[in-house]
Amino acid sequence: MYLGAIEAGGTKFVCAIGDRDGNVHERVTFPTTTPEETFGQVIEFFNHYDVKAIGIGTFGPVDLNRKSRTYGYITSTPKPYWSNVDFVGAITKHFDVPIGFDTDVNAAALGEQLWGAAKGKNSCIYMTVGTGIGVGAIVEGRLVHGLLHPEMGHILVRRHPNDEFAGSCPFHGDCLEGMASGPAIEKRWGKKGAELSDRADVWELEAFYLGQAIAQYILILSPEQVIVGGGVAHQPSLLPLVRRYVLDCLNGYVQHAAILQHIDDYIVLPGLGDNAGICGALALAKQALEK
Ligand code: ADP
Ligand code: ZN
Repeated sequence: MYLGAIEAGGTKFVCAIGDRDGNVHERVTFPTTTPEETFGQVIEFFNHYDVKAIGIGTFGPVDLNRKSRTYGYITSTPKPYWSNVDFVGAITKHFDVPIGFDTDVNAAALGEQLWGAAKGKNSCIYMTVGTGIGVGAIVEGRLVHGLLHPEMGHILVRRHPNDEFAGSCPFHGDCLEGMASGPAIEKRWGKKGAELSDRADVWELEAFYLGQAIAQYILILSPEQVIVGGGVAHQPSLLPLVRRYVLDCLNGYVQHAAILQHIDDYIVLPGLGDNAGICGALALAKQALEK
């Protein structure tokens, strides 16, 4: 039995066919252009398969409230052509199957809980550090939604005393995303992250911000597993530094062996690697089918 999965990003869309065990059988990738053109390609791909449900993990912000008139929409994104776009409607018009719809990071958190680094745990957070910073959370076995959905990438962070970078967030300037996203790194240092591997100061500062943020997520949500993905997490020296800053920030206050003794297993890369996003969408399809 086939399930469909859509990982919708601001630069590219990934569509896949998979199964209930998280295996991806077929996939295609295409650039995100206009909604008309991009949805056209999505529909063309799924037309070749008899999928029983489709999961969508998307960039946002999105309306996840099933009672809302604009449920299933991408809402106020600054991305040209994509604000107030009815994503779920565009898919259900062509496929009469259950649809799972959530943010890209909530999807990834669910995928990691089902099949990845948080397998068997009742709570986790999935943080992506890429073009933006986003965090999905599972608390007491359920994805956190609330009013809209959490936006933990935009929390305020304490500025490093030697950091004069103004920050790159169009809404907040020096929020976490403004200080530590991939584009923030590039703006501050004049080069892309991947070209700065030999600069210890770059990753020290990056970890200073990410560590603060993760410490706050731990204090607020008490997750049993912290997963850090996204392009910037590919930087090999980063995660060990992040763990150190998390320990510094918490300063022994959260008394649990997972943090005090086993932090290398507590703050980890995605178990599903670069498939976290698409497997997350598959997990949403599985969940939609079972509901
Ligand atoms: P998106 O967030 O658009 O889905 P990614 O998660 O791949 O995409 O993140 C892209 C960002 O990650 C870019 O800003 C890029 O410069 C940065 N990046 C990619 N690879 C690396 C790397 N090895 N080290 C540091 N930064 C990287
Ligand atoms: Zn912000």
